[in-house]
Amino acid sequence: MIVKGGTFGPVATNTYVVADGQGGSALVVDPAAGSRDWVLQTLARLEVTPIAVWDTHGHWDHVVENHLWADDGLPIWCGRGDEDWVRAPAPFNPALFGNPPPTPGVEPSRVLGADDVLECGALSFELIPTPGHSPGCWVAYSAEHGEALVGDLIFAQGVGRTDFPGSDPAAMIASLERVLALPGETVIYPGHGPWAGTLAEAEPYARMFMR
Ligand SMILES: [Zn+2]
Repeated sequence: MIVKGGTFGPVATNTYVVADGQGGSALVVDPAAGSRDWVLQTLARLEVTPIAVWDTHGHWDHVVENHLWADDGLPIWCGRGDEDWVRAPAPFNPALFGNPPPTPGVEPSRVLGADDVLECGALSFELIPTPGHSPGCWVAYSAEHGEALVGDLIFAQGVGRTDFPGSDPAAMIASLERVLALPGETVIYPGHGPWAGTLAEAEPYARMFMR
């Protein structure tokens, strides 16, 4: 499993290219504002074929370049709960996101749930429902590789905000408990801030927000 990350846009959102190996298949995860050229270069460097965009959740900053990939014919996949925001991004005050220009929504090709597996070539990820930051936040966990795409659930030193429309602070705590039950050595790739630390390293900071 190969994960390459970059940080883009007005609220420093992480975009990832996740591949099953050099020359294999890849997912474009959370295409942030201004990420496209970097993604194209990364796909080329890894000699991988993108099979889909995976949106960890539907907030504007994570889905804003969906339409550029959809225009290329790439399917857009998201988790159940935020699909309406993927269809029509920026449903709430764009000032929260640095007053970005309006962006077209995209009809998701697949809306995945807990019974689904997120697959990419030889990779398969269990989908863990983690509502709280938004209703449709999902953690994609590869038990085989001990790595997880955690979106805005948990960061290296904090957790996602729960003061947005559709946020649910109580659900957030339950979601954090669910994910903190995974092995502590699980390597996490959050939607903001540093990546490739472990869940065990992030846990003490997350716990400060769970009291
Ligand atoms: Zn978010």
